[in-house]
Amino acid sequence: MNDVRGATAGRQLQLRNVRLGPRGPLGCVTVAGGRIAAITPDVPDGRAGGGRGGRGGLDVFDAAGGTLLPGLCDAHVHLVQWASARRRVDLSGAGSAQAAARAMADAAGRSPGGDQEPLIGFGFRDGLWPDRPHRDLLDRAGHRVAVLVSNDLHTAWLSGAALARLGRPGHPTGVLREQEALDAVARLGPVADAVADTWVADALTAAAARGVTHIVDFEYADNARDWTRRCGAGPLATRVTAAIYPDYLEDAIAQGRRTGDVLPDTGGMVTVGPLKLFVDGSLNTRTALCHEPYPGTPSGEQAWGILQTPPQELEHLMARAAVHGIHSAVHAIGDRANAIALDAFERVGCVGRIEHAQLVAVHDHARFKRPGLVLGVQPAHAPDDRDIADRHWHGRTHRAYAYADLLAAGAVLEIGSDAPVSPLDPWRGIAAAVHRGSEHGRSPWHPEQAMDLETALRAAAAGQAAVRVGDRADLVVTACDPAEVSPEDLMAMPVRATLLEGRWTHRTD
Ligand SMILES: [Zn+2]
Repeated sequence: MNDVRGATAGRQLQLRNVRLGPRGPLGCVTVAGGRIAAITPDVPDGRAGGGRGGRGGLDVFDAAGGTLLPGLCDAHVHLVQWASARRRVDLSGAGSAQAAARAMADAAGRSPGGDQEPLIGFGFRDGLWPDRPHRDLLDRAGHRVAVLVSNDLHTAWLSGAALARLGRPGHPTGVLREQEALDAVARLGPVADAVADTWVADALTAAAARGVTHIVDFEYADNARDWTRRCGAGPLATRVTAAIYPDYLEDAIAQGRRTGDVLPDTGGMVTVGPLKLFVDGSLNTRTALCHEPYPGTPSGEQAWGILQTPPQELEHLMARAAVHGIHSAVHAIGDRANAIALDAFERVGCVGRIEHAQLVAVHDHARFKRPGLVLGVQPAHAPDDRDIADRHWHGRTHRAYAYADLLAAGAVLEIGSDAPVSPLDPWRGIAAAVHRGSEHGRSPWHPEQAMDLETALRAAAAGQAAVRVGDRADLVVTACDPAEVSPEDLMAMPVRATLLEGRWTHRTD
């Protein structure tokens, strides 16, 4: 990919035979100096080949009728976690210990990381296996540090090299359970910054191949430091907005960093994000804070979910950040958590984001129409969570993931994946927003809360509706027209090319 990512931003470039938006006409788009210089009806020789090269320093790309859209923005990711998760070997389909060991050996052959980097496998279920996990099965394939984690996280199966690194070379089977397993994963899982940075670069390149030109990174880390370091290693494949966690708030204030500022020494590619705060937990663990108790939970403190940050403390942190030009991004999943987040924005009088808003009281919908408030949503979670929501939010799901009602009330929505919770692939979110689960072959779940395609594409592009002359050339060309494909094909939308400020970050010709 280096030749592609290193393409110069200064050259003129023409995208020919390109559809200008869903169901739009064919046209030709000229990019110069990293911006859209012209959009014209297709040039006469637009069908005469093109491809790489072109004449007189003009790079010509024949889009073959593909559709041009603004570059996509994943508005909520945890990038190091996602970059690590996508490196794990998927063991969910392994039918035996032999098969799991073989999958690990195959992955070791494909992985460029070398013997020093632990190879992590995830998701095996050995309850019905005909054979037993054993270190010897892994060791026969080589001396690699290999850790296989069971689907419920309670078993870790280690190679001899992994046991040696833990200081337990003589362990008879290499199969650890419960606390021993968790400790082993905690000690062998984390990798050095230099390794993690190559994983992050790979993850961004893969995101660019799905049309992403911008991510908002909510990793739990010193994001300003980490992204500055990563920018020193070469150009990033996407822009990054780097969130601030409360542990790093005072540092950000001392450095004079304000939300939206370009972070120094990042080549303009990384901007300062919002302060991330939490009101509650999540639906799956029944810690999302709700007005009504979870069915079947014994009455008590936690029957309604968990309050992570009391309102006074929340408002104090938001106000402190706001005084210094730092916006807040407030995690709120349950309806009571969302009311608390809205109260805080109103009392403090600041701008920012509410993240998730999976369950909202109907009388709170109108409060999301607030200047400077953006609602970060993850539509791909709806098809993943529908069964658990039907149980735990029984009788309330008409106002769960209620995008149509929130949009009608005037809320501004942006789509994210919350990777690794769902894959960093905006087309999954777009398809789920529009089709509400029918893209997975099921009946749509509360289809009355669907977004139309145009709204979903705009929400997946940080609010940008169309490509205009003068805009920065952050662009994606899809292979087919998103308005003309089935729900399944929208979710799997092939991407022909992605441009970041006029430089190719993905290209198929
Ligand atoms: Zn998150």
